[in-house]
Amino acid sequence: MADDARVIDGKAFAAGLRARIAAAVPAFEAATGRAPGLAVVLVGDDPASAVYVGSKGKATVAAGMASFEHRLPASATQAEVEALLRQLNADEAVDGILLQLPLPGHLDEQAAVAAIDPEKDVDGLTPVSAGRLALGIPGMVPCTPYGCLLLLQDRLGDLSGKDAIVVGRSILVGKPMGQLLLGANCTVTMAHSRTKDLPALVRRADIVVAAVGRAEMVKGDWIKPGAIVIDVGINRLPAGEGETKGRLVGDVDYAAAVGVADAITPVPGGVGPMTIACLLRNTLVAAHRRAGLADPEGF
Ligand code: NDP
Repeated sequence: MADDARVIDGKAFAAGLRARIAAAVPAFEAATGRAPGLAVVLVGDDPASAVYVGSKGKATVAAGMASFEHRLPASATQAEVEALLRQLNADEAVDGILLQLPLPGHLDEQAAVAAIDPEKDVDGLTPVSAGRLALGIPGMVPCTPYGCLLLLQDRLGDLSGKDAIVVGRSILVGKPMGQLLLGANCTVTMAHSRTKDLPALVRRADIVVAAVGRAEMVKGDWIKPGAIVIDVGINRLPAGEGETKGRLVGDVDYAAAVGVADAITPVPGGVGPMTIACLLRNTLVAAHRRAGLADPEGF
């Protein structure tokens, strides 16, 4: 049985972060006369996306912020999606805009994301946000990697000089994660599907961030004793006998790694809850910047 001290409780950390965000909202309201507002756009009727949008809306309201939900039919044209985004860009009550991905196949995702005002880009996915992150200037950082950074800093404090590996180079997770770790003065290795001898590279690392989307691919004996492991992956195993749904597992073989690592995030209950908490954090920060206020402290 794993020692609890080795388990990074993302659920508890995210709950604390959400409580601090909620506590910061009244001061913003007092200064501006309105609550921070987050608009979420859902195109089509993908059931998983509808669930995500619903839980984002609930979390927004629970933090004392205004939630605006916009749904377009799966048949919406590129022009219709971009027109809605431009309308939200111009809406003074909206501080953050989240376009729920993936979009239906006939739409150009990159062009749609690029239509979002970078100052309201709480998902951190516009070219301007990505460029700012690469340049090391303040901007909006994608929620999942930012959540991973917060968990690492909470555990380790200063990350300077740590040897970090990020497995996966997606625009959503891997690439911004690498930039954030570099910004925190880690020595960063970016690994991907063409990387040679991945186990040897992972064995060198003080910090391992796995964002691959392959169930339990990172093995326990790849982990350096004492390393910190952040498992972003969410994979559902096939249903076993008598189960209606298979178990959720990460990209790391948790049962084996938990005995070797200094600390590791479980799946579920690790990185997952941090994503929505960081979305609210980004909305709060965007609202302050748009109102010409200093960034709220401690986020
Ligand atoms: P993508 O599919 O966009 O990217 C996967 C990355 O993994 C790619 O860069 C790919 O390399 C790399 N990869 C694939 N196979 C291998 C391999 N055998 N060895 C090394 N690298 C490999 O996934 P995402 O980044 O969007 O998501 C990753 C995981 O994180 C998923 O399980 C997803 O569900 C989860 N996720 C969880 C979130 C949360 O809130 N907890 C939020 C977002 C994602 P290449 O570029 O060469 O193809």
